[in-house]
Amino acid sequence: MHHFDLKNGALHAEDVPLELIADEVGTPAYVYSTATLKRHYGLLRAAADAHREALGEALIAFAVKANANLSVLATLAKLGSGADTVSEGEIRRALASGVPAERIIFSGVGKTDMELAFAIGVGVRQINVESGAELDRLIAVAHAMDARPAVAIRVNPNVGAGGHAKITTGGKGDKFGVPADEAMRLYARASASSHVTPVGLACHIGSQIVDLSPLEAAFQVLRQMTLDLRAHGHAVTRLDLGGGLGVPYSGGSTPPSPADYVAMAARVLQGLDVEAAFEPGRLLAANAGVLLSRVIQVNERSDGQRFLVLDAAMNDLMRPALYDAFHDIRAVQPLGGEDQAYNVVGPVCETGDTFARDRILPPLEADDLVVFTGAGAYGAVMASEYNSRPLIPEVLVDGDRWAVIRPRPTYEDMLDREPFADWL
Ligand SMILES: *Cc1c(COP(=O)(O)O)cnc(C)c1O
Repeated sequence: MHHFDLKNGALHAEDVPLELIADEVGTPAYVYSTATLKRHYGLLRAAADAHREALGEALIAFAVKANANLSVLATLAKLGSGADTVSEGEIRRALASGVPAERIIFSGVGKTDMELAFAIGVGVRQINVESGAELDRLIAVAHAMDARPAVAIRVNPNVGAGGHAKITTGGKGDKFGVPADEAMRLYARASASSHVTPVGLACHIGSQIVDLSPLEAAFQVLRQMTLDLRAHGHAVTRLDLGGGLGVPYSGGSTPPSPADYVAMAARVLQGLDVEAAFEPGRLLAANAGVLLSRVIQVNERSDGQRFLVLDAAMNDLMRPALYDAFHDIRAVQPLGGEDQAYNVVGPVCETGDTFARDRILPPLEADDLVVFTGAGAYGAVMASEYNSRPLIPEVLVDGDRWAVIRPRPTYEDMLDREPFADWL
């Protein structure tokens, strides 16, 4: 569900015509919908609140890596969202956007001592520890600071899941977390330390998961471990269930609803008396954003191949090149005429800079506008300046208002960042 709809024959973001944004800020550009962010957060919040008995006062901590723009984070923070972060930069972004430290979770497989010290210093809610080596370093850092941060141990429940091998995180060979037996030992080690307070367990098994059963299997592992830890006299008060729920990238797919997902979690956690945390990224942001792009030209080749060459490229939206991701492509001003098959490409000098092959679209020509839907998560955050293409702007719409929330840098901005070596 999103708020990018045709009105009077033209695609709008809420009440703002996308053509207006294209004219004012240029293309390519990311455009986000406040109403969609609010709707997705609200659905999850309502589902969690309906299961308070099983989930406690559940924290919804938006995974900042999905969309790190300060205005997007501030929109969610105002709704009460927390933040799941994986670097000092993300913690700083969350804090700057108004997420209170007590709603910030610090996850990630390779946190440096400096990042751990920073997280302790600002007083994040909890640090999710992913290995024995990290626990030792955290204890040393906390000791030096005379602090005692709350930690959760990230379990690798050995259930792989996710839309693509590159976004699976909970399988045996994946780099995240520790196996259940090791997690039990780490928990005991944390309990014995006077410089950390173990509060619970965490897992996150993958992304774009469209079937509840692997998630349920992972939550069952956490449940059993909670019982085992308590049998050994350890306190377990929080379970961090991670993110990963998939979203519909095309009209045809129907992933589980947030309500069904939360109800399943509540069933598994029933009677444990823990406080749950959810870390949705894609679920909140993906369909709250589009990438707006203009057709540079249509190449009709003598071999019958038709290429739609856009001004957006793989450096702006990396998902198709990185993991064969599918994004719906829609014309902003669809005209009549027969649909045609296009290979949709960007201008970057890589064959990987192909968004779609043989995509059936309405007739398009130079200067027409298109959008990639589902681009609000893992879009702008992954962008680069490859081919010396400056990062593209981000725009936030709210009803009939809109604002540029990250301007397009000028070419001067781009070149000025690089001082010449003094011998040149
Ligand atoms: C990436 C990530 C998330 C968010 O994943 P989505 O699939 O976007 O919901 C949540 N938690 C952790 C630890 C992550 O690394």
